[in-house]
Amino acid sequence: MDDRADALRSLPSVDRLARAVARAEVEAARERILRGNGAAPAFDELVDGARERAQPSLRRVINATGVVVHTNLGRAPLAPAARAAVHGAAAGYANLELDLAAGTRGSRHDHVEALLCELTGAEAAIAVNNCAAATLLAVAALAGPVDPAAPPEVVVSRGQLIEIGGAFRIPDVVAQAGARLVEVGTTNRTRLDDYRAAIGPATAAILRAHPSNFRTVGFVAAVEIEELTGLGVPVIDDVGSGVLADDLALLADEPPVRRSVKAGAALVAFSGDKLLGGPQAGLLVGRREAIDACRRHPLARAVRIDKLSLAALEATLRLYRDPEHAVREIPVLAMLTADPGELERRAREIAQAVGGRVVTAAGRVGGGALPLLELSGPVVALDAGERGPDALAAALRAADPPVLARIRDDAVLLDPRTVAPDETSALVAAVKGSFTPSVQ
Ligand SMILES: *Cc1c(COP(=O)(O)O)cnc(C)c1O
Repeated sequence: MDDRADALRSLPSVDRLARAVARAEVEAARERILRGNGAAPAFDELVDGARERAQPSLRRVINATGVVVHTNLGRAPLAPAARAAVHGAAAGYANLELDLAAGTRGSRHDHVEALLCELTGAEAAIAVNNCAAATLLAVAALAGPVDPAAPPEVVVSRGQLIEIGGAFRIPDVVAQAGARLVEVGTTNRTRLDDYRAAIGPATAAILRAHPSNFRTVGFVAAVEIEELTGLGVPVIDDVGSGVLADDLALLADEPPVRRSVKAGAALVAFSGDKLLGGPQAGLLVGRREAIDACRRHPLARAVRIDKLSLAALEATLRLYRDPEHAVREIPVLAMLTADPGELERRAREIAQAVGGRVVTAAGRVGGGALPLLELSGPVVALDAGERGPDALAAALRAADPPVLARIRDDAVLLDPRTVAPDETSALVAAVKGSFTPSVQ
């Protein structure tokens, strides 16, 4: 009884609640009128505007697209251990840059360096903000100019002058780092001799970039990492998606980090939130002196990782110590290897609840990884009827929480692979709500 009384007392007054969301909306309308931009908005419009303001802009959404590493939806959901680590680091202070034993200043890089070395076989490691930053830092640290009149050269195959997305292009990265790009080979074929012929006194590094989001097929040839590292020039290997679970057959078409380290690459760069399944981060592992050069470079400070990401990264990496456990606990890996029978059961459950049909469709890995891999599986098809699939998909996006689906032909598809089991009831409620037009 007392609990209820307390709860009732802690409710805000109608007036306070209304003020909190309505003041800014009315103020904005006043300004528009004073600037001469039209008449007063209708009451309903103001209510809708106030509702919108009451919602945070960045929100949890339900990913029913079947695209596992969906960049627009924040890439990798975190494992329970990583979520707990973020919570711990966010709730109070942390020994981010403190050596607890000595009580003196420490380095934020120390929290994951040993783990990264243990998992990849590298001598040294550093984590930064994302893989784009890691690649830029790697090139700047190994090939940044000492004398601007004589920029060091970075050799890149013409088959690897790639664009990752968001205007992140390898030729621009090399230019930004202050180095001079030397292109070798052709779009489809580059041989070891092409590299050999390009190497000279000004060569600072060879940069290899994995064509993450496309594949060339047919009359093609590229040089393996083991051959490149035999040329006597430091090799920077940007492998992109970051496969640490290299015994998973499904991921066999992406370059494993350990292989590049073993081959002797000076620096291997990869993402924290693609196939690694952790937070946004860029990892660099490799030779001690190359990592030290990265740590000393002024860009390292500009692209440093924050404590929340670092907490999530450490917890995610720890899971990889037991690979079988990692596949179960890391959501990206669990979704990629989901049991077909279990997916079928969940698809039926959703279909029955919302009145959809179970059909087979192909999902994708996404996030610029394994572009050819189709994750075929059972999905729920919703017949959009008169209003069409675009309107139904829009209604699902307007639900709370928003649901993201994909459209095939005239149906809206819901893929259980990327929907967490504890999201199923919210998904069902959103679909039911979007079929019954709400009375305003
Ligand atoms: C995705 C990718 C990047 C960029 O990684 P972010 O973590 O998104 O910054 C760089 N290089 C390659 C080869 C990639 O696939």
